[in-house]
Amino acid sequence: MNNLFQAERIDGKGFAANLVERLAADVRSIKTDTGLTPGLAVVLIGEDVASGVYVGAKHRQTQAAGMNSFVHKLPAETTQVELMALLAKLNSDAVVNGILVQLPLPAHLDANAVINAIDPDKDVDGFHILNAGRLATGQDALVPCTPLGCLMMLKNRLGDLTGLNAVVVGKSNIVGKPMAQLLMGESCTVTVTHSKTRNVAELCRTADILVVAVGRPELVKGDWIKPGAVVIDVGINRIMRDGQSRLVGDVAFSEAGHAAAITPVPGGVGPMTIACLLANTLTAFRRQHPLHTNQTIAG
Ligand code: NAP
Repeated sequence: MNNLFQAERIDGKGFAANLVERLAADVRSIKTDTGLTPGLAVVLIGEDVASGVYVGAKHRQTQAAGMNSFVHKLPAETTQVELMALLAKLNSDAVVNGILVQLPLPAHLDANAVINAIDPDKDVDGFHILNAGRLATGQDALVPCTPLGCLMMLKNRLGDLTGLNAVVVGKSNIVGKPMAQLLMGESCTVTVTHSKTRNVAELCRTADILVVAVGRPELVKGDWIKPGAVVIDVGINRIMRDGQSRLVGDVAFSEAGHAAAITPVPGGVGPMTIACLLANTLTAFRRQHPLHTNQTIAG
């Protein structure tokens, strides 16, 4: 990086901390007004180390925001029938307002069937087919946490997004596709690119907003970025550099100094994802208790 690096670093960590503070204040009001405490159930199957770390972080932050956290750890050999039975129990449990099944699942489990067995009104990951359909058709949905966090940061930085050219690199169900839907919802002109796109770099150069969610370290080079663009780097890649293990994004950060703003990795999109999970849990609570609570933050 050199002195010409002018891009603002979007402080996802600070933004997320501020959001969680406001959510915690809402939780306190809900408790005072109703005597109820919003609750999130997280289901973890198997021993995947990264999944265990994510679930631990979700548990701690849910509690720190004043909500109930229910973590269900099941062995890797859990059957589909056993998992469905747990989900049915959580679906009908009034103290559970949000349900999340940590992905990836062991190979013998059918992830789509599992996701679609969650009550869509408790589906705080926003992966249920009904929530995907609601988002696609502009109806009230629980929206996947990572793109929701990206949109919040974009709106905070840019205000009205109407008419801006947005390019999304990556078309996964959990990031790229819902991100494109959200940007269309803001009346952006949206281009979605993927591994078979012939001219990704050229399309990226048209972007006022560039969202990259690929999982390839530093795929997006400086000359793919239009001067003045706002760049959201969703990628999290662990690489070895100079003999040290490091986290890098999907964008070559040091080459992005001519952007108006960019999210760093780490400290950009990552912290917003868990904050938005808490926001979604509160949104789910409010929709399950419409007469009792005022809408403030989450959606
Ligand atoms: P994914 O399911 O593997 O999808 C990757 C997408 O990138 C696919 O659509 C793929 O295209 C596309 N792609 C692959 N190579 C490409 C290339 N050379 N040019 C253009 N597109 C290319 O990944 P994901 O779940 O969306 O995650 C993407 C990254 O975001 C990962 O690094 C992941 O760790 C990170 N992530 C971060 C958070 C967070 O909280 N910060 C949350 C979720 C994910 P095809 O569809 O054609 O295969």
